[in-house]
Amino acid sequence: MTGNKYPLSTQLCINGKLVDSHSSERYSLFNPVDDSLFCDQVQYAAAEDVDAAVEAAEAAFKGPWRKFTATQRGEALVKLSALILEHKEELAYLDGTPTGKTAAITEAEFAASILRYYAGWADKYPGESYPGEDGMVKIVRQEPLGVCVGINPWNGPIAIMAMKLGPALAMGNVIILKPSEKTPLASNRLAFLASESGILPPGVFQSLSGAGATGAMLASHMRVRKVSFTGSIPTGKKIQEAAAKSNLKRVTLELGGKSPSGIFEDCDFDNAVWWSVFAITQNTGQACYAASRVYVQEGIADKFVEAFTKGMSEKINELAPLADKTQLSRVSSFFQRDAGKTQILVGGKQHGDKGCYWEPTVFYNPEKDAQVYNEEIFGPVACISTFKDEEEFLRLANDTEYGLMAGVFTQDINRAMRISSELDSGVVGINCVSTISLQTPFGGSKQSGIGREMSHYALRSYSEPKTVLINMNY
Ligand code: NAD
Repeated sequence: MTGNKYPLSTQLCINGKLVDSHSSERYSLFNPVDDSLFCDQVQYAAAEDVDAAVEAAEAAFKGPWRKFTATQRGEALVKLSALILEHKEELAYLDGTPTGKTAAITEAEFAASILRYYAGWADKYPGESYPGEDGMVKIVRQEPLGVCVGINPWNGPIAIMAMKLGPALAMGNVIILKPSEKTPLASNRLAFLASESGILPPGVFQSLSGAGATGAMLASHMRVRKVSFTGSIPTGKKIQEAAAKSNLKRVTLELGGKSPSGIFEDCDFDNAVWWSVFAITQNTGQACYAASRVYVQEGIADKFVEAFTKGMSEKINELAPLADKTQLSRVSSFFQRDAGKTQILVGGKQHGDKGCYWEPTVFYNPEKDAQVYNEEIFGPVACISTFKDEEEFLRLANDTEYGLMAGVFTQDINRAMRISSELDSGVVGINCVSTISLQTPFGGSKQSGIGREMSHYALRSYSEPKTVLINMNY
């Protein structure tokens, strides 16, 4: 393609080189700001490419990467982090353009900080040893798994890439990333740069752009030892099934959400309004942890609904578009299905006549069987309902198969702590919601996922304990 700010890395990155796929099919990416063509030459990995990448990964794992000490792995991650910062505009352009993301540079900076965080862990993750009075010295080592795969979504592609690369490489694994078909270019490019710059030996970090079929081949590959998946619940279930049916590879699943947030009468009102609007409009609502179900206590309901609706309306010219036409038609389909089951206070339609913009939308007191109330919409669309007391809030908040994030807004610390322990959720925010921290585990309960990313919990999931028993009795 001509006219692009940076070359478009449409080829696969296998064993440190950009190579053509064995498939001759090519795919297009469009810019959702104005529907213009961005790239029409994206390559998708075929079965031969998947096998070649797994072979190169195994060779790197048994060969040059094994020779890196833990400290050297940490140093490599520091350099990889710096490489992301050096190329942050380019990476942001490659993945931000086909999804219309305005905050892609900030996301690349966050990705760099994730790698720096894991760089620190590489030579600090301890093993264990136990008393040897019985004549046995017992040691537990944390060993790498080998060839790992990260299958990624499009909504936070650069940060999620780092969430998989960081812990996998820190623990001494090698990794193949399969980026979303909507955001393939930054992943291919970073894998190439990491090897070209000499930071990582070829085969340690590879990238295979592709659709679901490429992901499925990796999830069922007999020589892949772990798959870490971020994406939707239906795909997560297929991946777990493929892993079980092939070689029982380890599986981490980071899936969707329909997160609740409870606004109590004694909250700091302006803080609660700010977070509630931010939660469902950041990344145009295309965030797994978006608090899309807002519950407000009856005594402040009128005032809060008015302020929240005003805050949402004011975002109209600030929001980036939805990621593409598929996402636009997905969001709009909810409105046709649920006609009559809810009242729309603001929004509810496409914004403008070009691109994929959607008006920030607020549904008021939707019926409890409405799809907008129960399903992840993945757009700037919130449902707001009222509740009487703590008990009712908890019943409503927990009445879902999702369990990724929840929020509670109150100035009563006892209430906040009580509610945080009763919410079925992997993460609970008190006086904040829909946010993430480097140092703490992130992931969901119930159908929102299995396992955790971020923090040292992720290191566990990229390693396996090996017990060594030393007999001192002979
Ligand atoms: P998706 O499930 O459609 O696709 C995710 C990835 O899986 C893509 O790379 C896709 O090509 C691949 N894939 C599709 N079918 C596959 C198969 N059968 N086998 C293997 N791989 C396959 O999800 P999406 O639309 O890209 O992302 C949006 C979803 O991701 C939302 O549900 C969102 O909540 C979730 N998400 C979760 C988190 C989290 O940390 N919990 C973070 C971001 C996004």
